[in-house]
Amino acid sequence: MTAAPPSAAYLYERVRRVIPPIEWSAFSDDIDAILALKRERNAVILAHNYQTPEIFHCVADIVGDSLALARKAMEVDADVIVLAGVHFMAETAKLLNPQKTVLIPDLGAGCSLADSITAEDIRLLRQRYPGVPIVTYVNTSAEVKAESDICCTSGNAKAVVESLGVARVIMLPDEYLAQNIAAQTDVEIIAWQGHCEVHERFTPADIRQLREDHPGVSVLAHPECPPEVVAEADFSGSTAAMSDYVGREKPARVVLMTECSMSDNVAIAHPEVDFIRPCNLCPHMKRITLANIRAALEQNRHLVTIDPQVADRARRAVERMLAI
Ligand code: SF4
Repeated sequence: MTAAPPSAAYLYERVRRVIPPIEWSAFSDDIDAILALKRERNAVILAHNYQTPEIFHCVADIVGDSLALARKAMEVDADVIVLAGVHFMAETAKLLNPQKTVLIPDLGAGCSLADSITAEDIRLLRQRYPGVPIVTYVNTSAEVKAESDICCTSGNAKAVVESLGVARVIMLPDEYLAQNIAAQTDVEIIAWQGHCEVHERFTPADIRQLREDHPGVSVLAHPECPPEVVAEADFSGSTAAMSDYVGREKPARVVLMTECSMSDNVAIAHPEVDFIRPCNLCPHMKRITLANIRAALEQNRHLVTIDPQVADRARRAVERMLAI
């Protein structure tokens, strides 16, 4: 018999700095139900850093950036994985766990980068640049990964590019990530013109205004931001690298030029740091809610499936990355 779920009340202590009591009252029923369903179904929830704090801190079993989620997805010992994130992340979890049930709570949780390129685009690039290896950001569909030589994340892109031992690579689909990595390596990088609709909106003028309004603030920018934004920042790195920076440097005041929930989630772990919060919401990440995570577990929806032939080739590109 399954033990009664713990009350969600104690979890409020984790998030009280960022969730007012009146909002919490709308969450606690779903949290109790999700905790019980996870036990009944032997399920784990993987949550990206851009998920809201009540998901990230109260129901998730594994949290992190795309690279961490991909790595940890390989070690999951559960029958069911619920991916609290966007569709390409759920596909990556499925690629690495083909025998497990992988669910995404909302099929509409897409990504402007993943939508910017197709498998056919890659085949055309191969004709245009014969022999040039293709490095594909994980923010892509399984079909696109299947046409690629190796995947990368914002956390390991430079290492992946340099691991290939060639003078020139194609890196797609994020033009700004490609340009930001090109500034750090001697490898020539051919970019695609995809952009993250969240990070492309930040500007150097935003940073200058922040420095004027909040003297001494440390500015951290995600490498999906335009290069001129990264150039104005004090540090640039993946969401995991930004989080590590805050823990290591303990700036008195910090601003993270990235998705809004990231600041909330990092702020909970660092109450001594003053977080300034101009941020941009990712509408795709925000489609995931406690209510649809609960429905996913109750109704076994939405199943993530990948054509086996596509999956085999896409998995190779992801595993090559993970081997670095
Ligand atoms: S934040 Fe940008 S890259 Fe991440 S899922 Fe949203 S649109 Fe895609």
